[in-house]
Amino acid sequence: MFCYHCQEAKKNIACDTAGICGKKSDISSLHDLLTYTLKGLAYYADKAAELGLAEKNLDQFMARSLYAMVTNVNFDAEIFMQLIAESIQRREYLKRKLITQGASFKQLLPEETLWHYEKIDLAEFIKKGETVGVIPTDKVPEQELDLHAAREMLMYACKGLGALLEHIQVLDIYTAEHYAFIHKALAFILDNEADLDAVLAMNYACGEQAMELMALLEKANTERFGEPEPTHVHLDTWDKPGIIVTGHDLQDLQDLLEQSAGSGVDIYTHGELLSAHSYPAFKKYFNLVANYGGAWYEQKTQFGKFKGPVLVTSNSLQQPKKGYIDMAYTSGMVGWSGLKHIQDRRKGEAKDFSAIIEQAKNCPAPDALNTGSITTGYGNKALQALVDPIAELIKTGEIQHILVLAGCDGRHKERKYYTELVKALPSDTLVVTAGDTKYRFYNLELGDIKGIPRLLDAGQVNDFYAVMEFLSAVQNKMQLPHINELPVSFNIAWYEQQTILMMLALLHKGIKNVTIGPTLPPFFSAGILDKLSSEFSIKGIDTVEQDIATMLGIELPTEVTEVVEEPEA
Ligand code: SF4
Repeated sequence: MFCYHCQEAKKNIACDTAGICGKKSDISSLHDLLTYTLKGLAYYADKAAELGLAEKNLDQFMARSLYAMVTNVNFDAEIFMQLIAESIQRREYLKRKLITQGASFKQLLPEETLWHYEKIDLAEFIKKGETVGVIPTDKVPEQELDLHAAREMLMYACKGLGALLEHIQVLDIYTAEHYAFIHKALAFILDNEADLDAVLAMNYACGEQAMELMALLEKANTERFGEPEPTHVHLDTWDKPGIIVTGHDLQDLQDLLEQSAGSGVDIYTHGELLSAHSYPAFKKYFNLVANYGGAWYEQKTQFGKFKGPVLVTSNSLQQPKKGYIDMAYTSGMVGWSGLKHIQDRRKGEAKDFSAIIEQAKNCPAPDALNTGSITTGYGNKALQALVDPIAELIKTGEIQHILVLAGCDGRHKERKYYTELVKALPSDTLVVTAGDTKYRFYNLELGDIKGIPRLLDAGQVNDFYAVMEFLSAVQNKMQLPHINELPVSFNIAWYEQQTILMMLALLHKGIKNVTIGPTLPPFFSAGILDKLSSEFSIKGIDTVEQDIATMLGIELPTEVTEVVEEPEA
């Protein structure tokens, strides 16, 4: 096993025996084999798309399969066995179809397009997976390190795109061109002729796609659930039994709310689902009462204290603990062997949440972990409404700087940097956030600047799109040639593959001075880091004091070390 997919890779190198996320080596091998077979499938799917032979169900299978391998989504061997077998069967079908259409594959084909299982067998799949995983960095020839790193980054970007596509297809949106891109990007990883610049360019193109998909997701969400509006969300608990819903899936939440309304069971959000409270469609449900706890990684300690069932709807699942394992449910592509799984919805129908609601009825009411409230809901429309006054306050100097501090939270103790950073910001600085890194600073009293709250939370990681739209609008209002001319800095708290896309989206837009933390991605080679530093001034986090000084263009006084001369003998 060698996995450096996410920010929690062991020692910031790689998980090599078991994942900190709960991924065991057998599941890691199955992920590796599925990655391998999907590249082979993409090779043909790309050609099919070019010939106008794209198939919606193949496209959706590709997105779903990539998404299943995003950190904290699926740990169920049975699911991966099915996906691997299906990817091979689909590949062979597509190959035959292309040949009947006149395509010829006489050239030397990549091995990813050729491997076939002898039988669908767990041991066989794991064994094969062990031979096709990520090559450990210390086994890569030095001259290939940069290309290797760029290809791995591209793979993670594709998995992030798979996640976005899956979130969109759940809402019945299908745009063939975005699936055609993902096939192309995956097939491109097999192109041994591609040089470093070409692979990096494909990475940046993934960033561009990510922004388009986030825009589509925002449109789909707002058409279905209304425009988010600034909303105070309670953090305490009520006196009825409850269900926690975590992840990102607003449609699952709506189905559950509809079925639990009037049942005497309250619904609490957790993690990034906090933003659901700001959508008008959910405000009519009196049993959507509060947000429980904090970021995704706190589930192991917080779910057990809740005393009621939990529903994990998307990439937020950790190895469930004894205290709540009997009350944990998954839905969509999320899975853990042995956990109860809510069946997918049939077209036009809702999912059936009756089992979880019935279980909740027999549970005691939860005890509060927090008190007070948190404000969220500065989505696209609400941020756009602030463009004029914020542009004016920048011109008058009353807003000195905007810090975009977005991304995911995580376990690392270094992440307390984000709390200290926000605490130390000058009072004329705005903080715009998206994702659950906000749990590091949401409870600080930041006040306002001329009535505009200093902390503006756009919502989930995917609402980063709204943040970028807002900055473009401020830039246009101030008639500046580029976002880089605004007094804005980006500090991305990365964790998994969707935050990698956030970073690539910024690079695609030519944004400079992006800070990444709490550690730099372990798959960055020294050469890639040099390139990104010199072309985009990307850097890792430093001390709070230094990062604020850099952000504001202030020179910190250099420390003078007094030299004491030795007396002559
Ligand atoms: S996803 Fe992250 S925590 Fe899990 S095995 Fe990979 S690097 Fe480790």
